[in-house]
Amino acid sequence: MSGDGILDRLKREGRVVVVGASLAGLRAAETLREKGFAGSLTMVGDEPYEPYDRPPLSKQVLLGRATSDHTSLPRRRAIDAQWRLGVPATGLDMAARRVRLADGDEVGYDRLLIATGVRARPWPRESEAELDGVFVLRTRDDATGLERALAQNPRRVLVIGAGFTGSEIASACRERGIAVTVAERAAAPLVGALGGVVGQVAAEIQREHGVDLRCGIMVTGLEGDAANRVRAAHLSDGNTVDADVVVVCLGALRNTEWLAGSGLGAGPRGIACDAGCRAFDIRGIVTDDVYVAGDVARSPHPLFGYQFLSLEHWGNAVAQAETAAHNMMSDSVDRRPHIWVPAFWSSQFGVNIKSVGVPSMGTEILIAQGALNERRFTGVYGYQGRVIGAVTFDQTKWLQFYQQLIETTAPFPPSFATVDRRPEGQRPVDADFPDPSVPTSGPTVTLTGYSPADRRMTFTPAGH
Ligand SMILES: Cc1cc2nc3c(=O)[nH]c(=O)nc-3n(C[C@H](O)[C@H](O)[C@H](O)COP(=O)(O)OP(=O)(O)OC[C@H]3O[C@@H](n4cnc5c(N)ncnc54)[C@H](O)[C@@H]3O)c2cc1C
Repeated sequence: MSGDGILDRLKREGRVVVVGASLAGLRAAETLREKGFAGSLTMVGDEPYEPYDRPPLSKQVLLGRATSDHTSLPRRRAIDAQWRLGVPATGLDMAARRVRLADGDEVGYDRLLIATGVRARPWPRESEAELDGVFVLRTRDDATGLERALAQNPRRVLVIGAGFTGSEIASACRERGIAVTVAERAAAPLVGALGGVVGQVAAEIQREHGVDLRCGIMVTGLEGDAANRVRAAHLSDGNTVDADVVVVCLGALRNTEWLAGSGLGAGPRGIACDAGCRAFDIRGIVTDDVYVAGDVARSPHPLFGYQFLSLEHWGNAVAQAETAAHNMMSDSVDRRPHIWVPAFWSSQFGVNIKSVGVPSMGTEILIAQGALNERRFTGVYGYQGRVIGAVTFDQTKWLQFYQQLIETTAPFPPSFATVDRRPEGQRPVDADFPDPSVPTSGPTVTLTGYSPADRRMTFTPAGH
């Protein structure tokens, strides 16, 4: 309880504004009401839709099993909010506690939650990105357009970037019997998130399903016909791929531009916040009234050496939103940290892939159960002698066990024997992550900062 009743008053008649009306925004709003917040709640969203779910967009929707207007997020409870949809927030005045909207309106707040997420990184050459038949996939409208294009039986689809989204799109194409080429700059699909050992398995699975997978190459340009429709792509190895649909899957950009000049610590890497979801200002001082959650947030995690994690994970958006909402309405002693253990899933080419922890922080991998060549295995990642992450291919039931090892900073390699440990799983091998300075298709976890346990720094003089 707050000493002078400020908190009680906030709960009774305060004003909360949520910018970003999607997964994190909705779950935060529901939690606020659950916690007894009775004041005014304004949900600002630049999309015209009430919150919907994105994971089905690259799965059921592309397979034609659901339409994208059937992806609305289920509601946990009524939130009694004023919805400002189809209106982007364009600025923030932290001193006056006001959010500016694109329609000229301003909304005052006592507590602000920023949950503006990320958007798809567009193809870098604008004239080529605007060709008919060139898509990205982030929104309901993107999915509607892409599904419509796939339904017209294109001769070939080119997917640029073999991260999770690109791989899922390629999988949907093959399931629909559409010829697909995947171009990936790294040596294999999924390497940014899972490393080269697992990436090689993903590559084999793609090829077995008939994907024309080209790794270690870049698309250097897209070519249109006289009607401004894409017809071909040029590759860095000198080859050309004829395609009438191109899907650009080059990762994401954080939606922070609207905060320029606000004094908030926001930029291309997201919005930095403390473990309690309170945003930092540009001086590195934590704010009391501005909170962040979901894909746009970057927060330190005690299990991962207090490095700042940016996670593009559905479960993280939910958990962080709940924590942010709880902390918004709590005194400092009652606040809690966001210490959700990262977890991600993907389904592609009939395989259920799940990960926990931060595999991309791992330097070694041990195939603790099953076998790579059976496409059914559990890979455990190690970093400085402890378990840091795990991935399963069609072996979900073990994931919780490995999550516990991550949570308890258990030693790596794990000492126990398992019934299905094979000879290849007796010793860890290099997990084979690419040099982080070389961009590959979008990672789902970005680490910044450094671990207090590993204080090495490299000084590179200017001009070298
Ligand atoms: C195709 C696809 C498949 C996915 N599959 C998986 C999966 O299998 N597993 C998994 O764990 N995760 C998956 N994800 C990721 C997951 O959907 C995200 O982690 C989640 O949507 C994050 O929620 P969020 O609310 O933080 O951000 P978002 O969902 O990005 O929502 C942010 C909202 O804020 C809006 N906005 C931005 N700027 C402004 C502004 N200035 N003013 C007002 N509104 C603004 C945006 O338009 C958007 O509506 C997938 C994502 C995509 C796109």
